[in-house]
Amino acid sequence: MLALASCAATAAAQTKEKPEWCKPLPRPEYKALERVLPDDPWFEVYKVAPSVFAIYEPHQAEETISYLIVGHKQAVLFDTGMGISDIHRVVTRLTSRPVVVLNSHTHDDHVGGNWQFPFIFGMDTDFTRKNAKGSRADAQAEITPDQICGDLPKGFNSSTYVTKPWKISLTIHDGFRVNLGGRTLEVIATPGHTPDAICLLDRENGLLFTGDTYYPAPIWLYRPETNLDQYVTSVKKIAALAPEVKLVLGAHNIPVAEPAVLPRLVEAIQAVRAGQGEVKPAEAGKELRSLNGFTFLLAASHQ
Ligand SMILES: [Zn+2]
Repeated sequence: MLALASCAATAAAQTKEKPEWCKPLPRPEYKALERVLPDDPWFEVYKVAPSVFAIYEPHQAEETISYLIVGHKQAVLFDTGMGISDIHRVVTRLTSRPVVVLNSHTHDDHVGGNWQFPFIFGMDTDFTRKNAKGSRADAQAEITPDQICGDLPKGFNSSTYVTKPWKISLTIHDGFRVNLGGRTLEVIATPGHTPDAICLLDRENGLLFTGDTYYPAPIWLYRPETNLDQYVTSVKKIAALAPEVKLVLGAHNIPVAEPAVLPRLVEAIQAVRAGQGEVKPAEAGKELRSLNGFTFLLAASHQ
């Protein structure tokens, strides 16, 4: 996902009302998960599988989830969140192993803490290289009052908030493997949401980290960098893995889903592209299309 400011921002600021999205939180699915580091004021951290931690940001509308996957020798941080609070501090509390960052894709809500880490593996796309230079506009749109639930962290400065630039240490590609010691993560290129979207597969443990290619909430597919043909090809590719996957871990809202959602996702996006599903208009030339429990946020002109 990636937010654009809405005109509701002004209204929320004036009335100091809780934004709508924030009213049903906490999401009930979190009750079944083991919470760790409960004292952090911004992040909620959950142990979702052995040596796998979901680092969730429930105080911002994206409800972004980054994952720390720890092996005997090193760890992978799959996304670094909004950059609103100090994810590096959380990671060092969870592991003493060296940490390599991979990004599910380089929208601002997944790369905000990249600058804090020395080793960033990036996909070989112009989109990745452009985003690695940082940006201000997308970051600023994430902190309008309608996007924030509760308090921003102490010391956070809204006026200077940007996505800070980072350096790509190593270029990676489809099929690239990271050996963490006792567990291996395999990069699966899944372009569509963005040109540099990837999933990570821990084949031995049956874990598939799906980034924004799948998460259990409306899937955002409206930006100019989104390619729907590629998206369909990519979801077919990960749906083919469903029989060997035990847990699907997406990048927003709720960190765990059943692998059976993946083949159903293929059917849903194909049907929606064929014109099926319930349509609701959304702001600024977008529409929501819902079918069989899936919702997609599309450009109104999508095909
Ligand atoms: Zn995204």
